[in-house]
Amino acid sequence: MQYINIANEGVKTLLPYQAGKPVEELERELGISNIIKLASNENPFGLPESAKQAIQAELDNLTRYPDSNGFYFKQAVAKKFGLNAEQITLGNGSNDLLELIAHTFANENDEIMFSQYAFIVYPLVTQAINAKKVEIPAKNYGANLDAFLQAITDKTKLIYLANPNNPTGSFLSAVEISEFLSNVPEQVIVVLDEAYTEFTLPEERVDSFALLNKHKNLVICRTLSKAYGLAGLRIGYAVSSSEIADLFNRVRQPFNCNSLALAAATAVINDDSFIAKVAENNRQGLKLLEDFFTTKGLSYIPSKGNFVMLDLQQPAQPIYQALLHKGVIVRPIASYGLPNHLRISIGLPEENQRFIDALSEILKI
Ligand SMILES: *Cc1c(COP(=O)(O)O)cnc(C)c1O
Repeated sequence: MQYINIANEGVKTLLPYQAGKPVEELERELGISNIIKLASNENPFGLPESAKQAIQAELDNLTRYPDSNGFYFKQAVAKKFGLNAEQITLGNGSNDLLELIAHTFANENDEIMFSQYAFIVYPLVTQAINAKKVEIPAKNYGANLDAFLQAITDKTKLIYLANPNNPTGSFLSAVEISEFLSNVPEQVIVVLDEAYTEFTLPEERVDSFALLNKHKNLVICRTLSKAYGLAGLRIGYAVSSSEIADLFNRVRQPFNCNSLALAAATAVINDDSFIAKVAENNRQGLKLLEDFFTTKGLSYIPSKGNFVMLDLQQPAQPIYQALLHKGVIVRPIASYGLPNHLRISIGLPEENQRFIDALSEILKI
C-alpha cells in the first residue's frame, strides 16, 4: 500500500516548508565553529531580560496546563493597543494563525488569493486544505492590489497580504491598504500579516487596528518571533472583530500557546526600550547593507523589514554555498521562484560586516 494514494489531494504534491539552516547543522556538516546565522529574520540580540525573568518565574508552574485563554497576555495586548480582549486570538506563532484562519473559513470549493513572491506559507496552507491558489503577479516584487481586486470572484474566500512582505521587503502604505479594503467585498476575509511592522518607521507605519472598525472582514496577524525575539517559544496573535475571533477560537487547539511563551510574551509586549533598540539596530544594519550593495553595483530590493533581498543576477546557490563555507548562513529563496536571489537577515553590526566581508571575497569585489 502506498499511503500517498489515500492522502488528501493537496498533500500529494505539497513540498514541506524549507527553514533556514540551523547553526548546529552547519557545525556538524563542515566541522567549523564561529558561525553566524542571518537566515531566518530572527532577533540578533537574544532573549530580552524581561522575558528571561518571566520565564524563570513560570518554571514552577510547568506541571499545569497553560491558561487556554491566555488571559494576561490578551489583557496586555488589549491595553497596549486600545483593543478589546475578545478581539484577540492567540497562536503558536502566527503561522499557526495563518492556518487556523484558512481552516475556519475555506475549503476545496474556495479560492485563496495572495501575491507572487508573498510569504510561502500562504500557498502551503491553501494547498493543504485543497483550496484553489490564486497567485497574482507581483509589481516591482510587491503586491499589485489593483490586480487583486480584478481577480476577486464569487469564490474568493480569503486574501493573504504581508506588509512588509517576506522575502521581498516590499511595503504597502496606509493609503494603499485603506483604499484596497474599501474595494474588497465584505464576504472576503482579508488577512493582513504584519510580522515585521515593528521595523517600519513610526511615521510610515500602517495603523491597521484603526481600520478594524470600518472593515469587519479584516484580520491582522502579529508575531512575537521577529522584533520581540521569541521565535523559539512560538507565539503570535490575531486581531479581528470579536465575532470572527469567536469563530477562530472554536477551531483553535485549546493549549496552542505554552506557559513559558505566554509569560515571556506578556513581559516583552511592554518592553518598549528593547523594541526601540532592536528597530534602531535594524535601521543601521539595513542601511549598511544597502549602501554596500549600491557602492558595489549589486542589485537589491529596498526593504522595510529586518532583511534584504539581493539580486545576484546569476544562480545564487553556489554563492550561498561559498558563504556557508565561510560560516555565514543566509537564505536561498529559489523555492519562491527567485533562484538568483538571496535573503539576508540584518544582524548585529559585527555580523553584518562579516557578511559584507565574506561576500566581497567570494565575488572579488
Ligand atoms: C516570520 C513570519 C511570520 C511568522 O512566524 P511565526 O514565527 O510563526 O510567528 C509570519 N508571516 C511572515 C510574513 C513572516 O515572515
